[in-house]
Amino acid sequence: MKDTETTPEHIPFNKPVLSGRETDNILSAIKNGQLAGDGVFTRSCESKLRGLIGCGDALLTHSCTAALEMSALLLGLGPGDEVIMPSFTFVSTANAVVLRGATPVFVDIRPDTLNIDESLVEQAITEKTRAIMVVHYAGVVCEMREILRIAERHGLEVIEDAAQALTSTYEGRPAGSFGALSCFSFHETKNIMSGEGGCLGVNDEKFLQQAEIIREKGTNRKNFFRGLVDKYTWMDVGSSYIPGELIAAFLGAQLDEIGAIQSERLEAWQRYASAAESLADRFGLELPKIPENVQHNAHLYYVLAPSAETRDSLIQEMRKRNVTTPFHYVPLHLSPAGQRYCRSGGQLAVTEDRSARLLRLPMYPGVKDVQDEILSHFEASLEALNV
Ligand SMILES: *Cc1c(COP(=O)(O)O)cnc(C)c1O
Repeated sequence: MKDTETTPEHIPFNKPVLSGRETDNILSAIKNGQLAGDGVFTRSCESKLRGLIGCGDALLTHSCTAALEMSALLLGLGPGDEVIMPSFTFVSTANAVVLRGATPVFVDIRPDTLNIDESLVEQAITEKTRAIMVVHYAGVVCEMREILRIAERHGLEVIEDAAQALTSTYEGRPAGSFGALSCFSFHETKNIMSGEGGCLGVNDEKFLQQAEIIREKGTNRKNFFRGLVDKYTWMDVGSSYIPGELIAAFLGAQLDEIGAIQSERLEAWQRYASAAESLADRFGLELPKIPENVQHNAHLYYVLAPSAETRDSLIQEMRKRNVTTPFHYVPLHLSPAGQRYCRSGGQLAVTEDRSARLLRLPMYPGVKDVQDEILSHFEASLEALNV
């Protein structure tokens, strides 16, 4: 028998949640008999995503990483080219550029949203700069009005790494509808997931046909099935970026539940925010700030501890209490590959400071059942540290 007094349930950081219709969808995909990609489930996911993202077109991919790689191919990036991005991001944002032989140039983040600081972008632009890759951290959309203005002034493309930002909006417009291309993730840790999965949003029509070719191993197979060409052939460089129908069947079931999933997450986020408010002054915590013109999607809830040491001890204290509260990105400019392949386009002091003080609280639909417990462990941990 389990003794919950002495061995409390471990509370994970993330728990993948099912809508309940995943299995039915997968069985019906199997019955349909088309298991390769671009079948009925893929088409229906893409149409739902077009609606959610408000993008010109949406193409399912294996991952956000794949969508980012496609973006780098579509831009025709090569050696000598530079792409501006934050150092405070996941490795895939930079890898996509480095794989083309081009150079990521890091710009610091804003102290409030931890998104790329738009006021520092312009001074990092050189004659080699080709694009700005923005990352909507925690599902909070970057200051897109200013970023689009800078891009237009300098003739640069804007790519959105919107991996965390499905359904977030900026001035009423959805994340993923701003850049020429936008990249989403359906990894298990994201709000809507298919284990691994992703999507490329195409807003600039000039990229659409090429995107279809790159995604289909460099062939015009998609136009062949549309009856536009009588045989398909190798047209350009490309790769295999099309997920199979089983993934799309699973994803479709998740997308059908997006309303319920989002409202549970937003409720949990709000509950964290009000509880943290009363702890902030007492323990010197800084809390996430959401700009007035942004509606976020409750992808994650983080707090900033007063110092790096406190943050590390806090994670330990929470672990002792069986709750996983991980830190997040190690700034890319401090990593071995970052030092080899990238360069900094200015000071990265805010990136270094914030990344060292940040920790994330468990976030998933259903976390509400243990949220009181998490919050009381959190308060006890802060007290134990006597910060
Ligand atoms: C999750 C994530 C990715 C990678 O997504 P995959 O689908 O796992 O490739 C890229 N960028 C950001 C900002 C992410 O959060």
